[in-house]
Amino acid sequence: MEDKKLTVCSSAKKCGGCQYQGIPYKEQLKKKQKNVEGLLKGLGKVSPIIGMENPYYYRNKVHAAFDRDRKGNIICGTYQPSTHKVVPIEECLIEDKKSQEIIRTIRDMLKSFKIKTYDEDTGYGLLRHVLVRRGFTSNEIMVVLVIGSPIFPSKNNFVKALRKVHPEISTVVLNINDKRTSMVLGERDIVLYGKGYIRDTLCGCTFRISPQSFYQVNPVQTEILYKKAIEFAGLTGEERVIDAYCGIGTISLIAAQKAKEVIGVELNKDAVRDARMNAKENKISNVRFQQGDAGVFMEAMAAAGERADVVFLDPPRSGSDEKFLKSLVKLKPEKVVYISCGPESLARDLKYLVKKGYSVKKMQPVDMFSFTGHTECCVLLQRVDGKIK
Ligand code: SAH
Repeated sequence: MEDKKLTVCSSAKKCGGCQYQGIPYKEQLKKKQKNVEGLLKGLGKVSPIIGMENPYYYRNKVHAAFDRDRKGNIICGTYQPSTHKVVPIEECLIEDKKSQEIIRTIRDMLKSFKIKTYDEDTGYGLLRHVLVRRGFTSNEIMVVLVIGSPIFPSKNNFVKALRKVHPEISTVVLNINDKRTSMVLGERDIVLYGKGYIRDTLCGCTFRISPQSFYQVNPVQTEILYKKAIEFAGLTGEERVIDAYCGIGTISLIAAQKAKEVIGVELNKDAVRDARMNAKENKISNVRFQQGDAGVFMEAMAAAGERADVVFLDPPRSGSDEKFLKSLVKLKPEKVVYISCGPESLARDLKYLVKKGYSVKKMQPVDMFSFTGHTECCVLLQRVDGKIK
């Protein structure tokens, strides 16, 4: 584990993204373990957290907001916590280096292309954000330019100039966000160069990632996490599996190779489209994807008297909801594998499931986000026969 020399980010105080800056990595892991054990107290034994080999430059998705400083110079970086003030970042210690380099190139190109940065107060100007995603295995790179109005002057020359400096860029997409909103991306994408998506490989499957789709930001630790989740499920090839909050179908496709049938459910339309393409491209046919709210889907499954042997759920940080959990209990799967990036909501949901007749068998924290206070956890629950309420 890399801790020989602790590098401290010069923007840490203003940026606020990394709560654990200045703390040696081993100490960070100890803090996370303690925090998770505290939150999950009384639910069972928490295994020791699986840390990262290299806790630096691990984020495959880099987002920069654009603005001007008081002198009128173009700056890019991150928002200061709870504000929309951009903190200029010259080098972030957790984001992919190549993606950061591309963002700096774009910043330096704006002036000669006479592209103004967007002003959130007046709605004047063009460039709001730049998002870069790199497939760590495939090395494919996607650049998304988020603009406040649909016209980007000299866009072809801009792409040409950008690719001259970075020929490694695989695709460039314009995203139109003309709303006064704190959401980074708008709804409309226009492909300027390449396919409009990138591919990456996880656990032997290849995944297509569109600008709007969720994809785990730390692919190295994601493989470890998914392997744990699959191991916990103990699939034999006979099971009917539900993968709820499935994103682009990552867990679904990996599980499908060891199960009889997998149904993935996901709210985001682009992610579902990616998931269906991913199944085709990986030649996996025992999986289907349903677009919609996971709770509504589970309710319909339970009402129709359908069955499931294993349910994976990987909800957003706020956790699952009562509609989902209630129907989950009605469906009575033998095993539930809960993957969570929010230990507070995880504790709440686990307590509900334990009360309704499930028992927590294993709890494995995995560090996906060094230098930040966030912790991912994979939990195995098993149905206690005769106890379902
Ligand atoms: N399992 C996937 C995605 C996890 S992130 C992976 O590891 O890549 C959580 C996902 O839940 C996101 O893709 C988000 O779009 C989706 N989501 C959020 N709310 C949802 C809801 N109510 N019903 C279904 N999916 C939802």
